[in-house]
Amino acid sequence: MKLRKITSAAAVVLTLSLAVTACGSSDDDSDGGSGGGGKKITIGIKFDQPGLGLKEPNGSYSGFDVDVAKYVAKQLGYKDNQIEWKETQSADRETSLQRGDVDMIVASYSITDERKEKVDFAGPYLLAHQDLLTRSDDSISKGTDLNGKKLCSVTGSTSAQNVKDDFAPKAQLKQVGTYSECLDGIASGSIDALTTDDSILAGYASQDQYKGKFKLAGLKLSNENYGVGVKKGDTDMVNKINDALKKMVDDGSWEKAVKANFGPANYKNEPAPKIGDVVK
Ligand code: GLU
Repeated sequence: MKLRKITSAAAVVLTLSLAVTACGSSDDDSDGGSGGGGKKITIGIKFDQPGLGLKEPNGSYSGFDVDVAKYVAKQLGYKDNQIEWKETQSADRETSLQRGDVDMIVASYSITDERKEKVDFAGPYLLAHQDLLTRSDDSISKGTDLNGKKLCSVTGSTSAQNVKDDFAPKAQLKQVGTYSECLDGIASGSIDALTTDDSILAGYASQDQYKGKFKLAGLKLSNENYGVGVKKGDTDMVNKINDALKKMVDDGSWEKAVKANFGPANYKNEPAPKIGDVVK
């Protein structure tokens, strides 16, 4: 009798622990991001772009892209603590999605026809423009002033491509992995200008250590329609993200995130784009 009691108690413990294990393992599962519950979603962002995607010294993440990503993830059923953030540099974005390293990318990622051959985009959720960042005392004022100058940009970005194709084919273009790598070069004089989206440059110019040292030329050299990148063919995911982005604009969260993230840099953003409306 006593033995049977112990056995049945053990059975209860065993059943309970199996149930706990089952819950635990579903927590660890990654389903590629299409579901919710206790699962994780992996999101690619930039780690070094203040105002857009920044890994803070305390390990937290901030910026407009981060806020957009959190909002979208929430609509897909993921809480903030179910998001795994991964740095995706400009040149790695398509391959990261193709390999399945990330479920989505929210990283100042412009929608282009060339990229659309490899990945799909939801959005756009922001319209930015290519611009130049120079030392405050520099006289560069238009794209063609860059011919013969030392220019820095990032491999795999539309910014570098546009310089080569259009604005200044005769510029000496140095291409690095991240925009922040260009900043010290301008400060020290080894680089004349950094070119990329005004949304990114405004964030750098407003950093305490660079205040008064740099200026934006204010040229709208291109239209950069930021989209959320997903794996090619995942139409369901694109539709869900588009619904989330629409909701973010409609309930005022988009405007709130713009003010909170771009306000400190005094960045004058364009109004919220309409989903599917890519400005050429
Ligand atoms: N928006 C541009 C692009 O997607 C430049 C910024 C970046 O490299 O993230 O290429």
